[in-house]
Amino acid sequence: MEYFRLGLLGYPLGHSLSPALHRAALQAVGLAGEYRLYPIPPEAWDREAPALARALRQGRIHGLNVTIPYKRRVLAWLDDLTDAARACGAVNTLFLQQGRLVGENTDAPGFWADLTHRLPQVAAWTHPRAVLLGAGGAARAVAWALSRQGWTVYVVARRLDQARELVQAFRVRGLASLFAYPWESRTDPAAPWFREPGPVLLVNATPVGMAPHVAASPWPEDGPWPQEAAVYDLVYNPRETRLLQAARRAGLPAVDGLGMLVFQAAFAFARWTQVDPARVLPAMAKAVGLSLPHEVA
Ligand code: NAP
Repeated sequence: MEYFRLGLLGYPLGHSLSPALHRAALQAVGLAGEYRLYPIPPEAWDREAPALARALRQGRIHGLNVTIPYKRRVLAWLDDLTDAARACGAVNTLFLQQGRLVGENTDAPGFWADLTHRLPQVAAWTHPRAVLLGAGGAARAVAWALSRQGWTVYVVARRLDQARELVQAFRVRGLASLFAYPWESRTDPAAPWFREPGPVLLVNATPVGMAPHVAASPWPEDGPWPQEAAVYDLVYNPRETRLLQAARRAGLPAVDGLGMLVFQAAFAFARWTQVDPARVLPAMAKAVGLSLPHEVA
C-alpha cells in the first residue's frame, strides 16, 4: 500500500492546524501516511530548502503545503502553475504531475467553496459586489475567486499602490471588474459600496483582529455598513473576531475563515491522493471544530 509523505513548509509553524486536518483526512479514508512540519527559518533557506525541493521532485515527499513566508519564494522550484496560482502569483500546494513539479493555490477555490456552503444566499446574489480589505496573498486568492464568478471587487488597501498592482495584474488576465481604493475610503459615504444600491460582501483579507491583537478591527465597530451587507473574515484565530461581533450586532450574516482553511486543505489533499474532497471534508471539519452545513457534512 502506498505511504503518503505530506507536509507543510513555512516559518514559524508552531500553531498550524494543517497537521490535524491532514492526519484526520488520511485516517478518514484509511490511507497510510504522515504529515510533517518543515519549519525553515529564512536564514537557513539556502542551506535546507534545496534538499526539500529534491525530495519532492524525486517523489520521496508526495505533497507539500506552503505558507508564510514562502508562498512566492517556492515559485523558483516549479515547472508549472495552475491558473489560480498563476493569477495569484503565489502557491500554497505543491505536487508532482508526470514528473513535473506543479504549484497550485487552493486558497482561491477554498474561499469560494466555503462561501457557497456557509453563505449560500450571498454566493447566489445576482449583481454581486465585494469590498476586499487588503491586497496581499490571501486577498489575491479571494479577488481571483470572486472576479471569476462575475463579481465586482473593490480592493481597499492601506498601500494604494499594492491595490493598484493587484487590479492591474488581473486586468492583464482579462478580469476587468476590479477597482483599487485607498484604505480611508472604506467608510466614505461617497464610495460606491455606500452610494450604489445592491448588496455588498465585506471581506477581511488583512491580519487585523488576529491573535494576539484581538481588540483590533479593520472596520469601525459601529459602522457605517452598506445598506445590504454580509461579512467574511479570513481570520480564524480567534473565530469570533471584533469584526464578526460587530457585524452580527448589526444583524448582518457573518462567517469566519475556518471554513476556507478546511476547504483549501481538502483540495490540497485531493491533489496529492486523488481522493474526492467530499470524502475528507467531514473529518477535516471535525478535527478543527467546524460545523459544516448538512449537505457537506
Ligand atoms: P499578507 O500577504 O501579508 O497580506 C496582508 C495584507 O493586509 C496586506 O495588504 C497588508 O498591507 C494588509 N495589512 C496588514 N496589516 C494591516 C493593517 N494594520 N491595516 C490595514 N491593512 C493591513 O498576508 P496574507 O497571506 O494575505 O494573509 C492575510 C490574512 O488572511 C491573515 O490573517 C491570514 O491568517 C489569513 N488567511 C486565512 C486563510 C484561510 O484559509 N482562512 C488563508 C490565507 C490567509 P501591508 O502590505 O501594507 O502590510
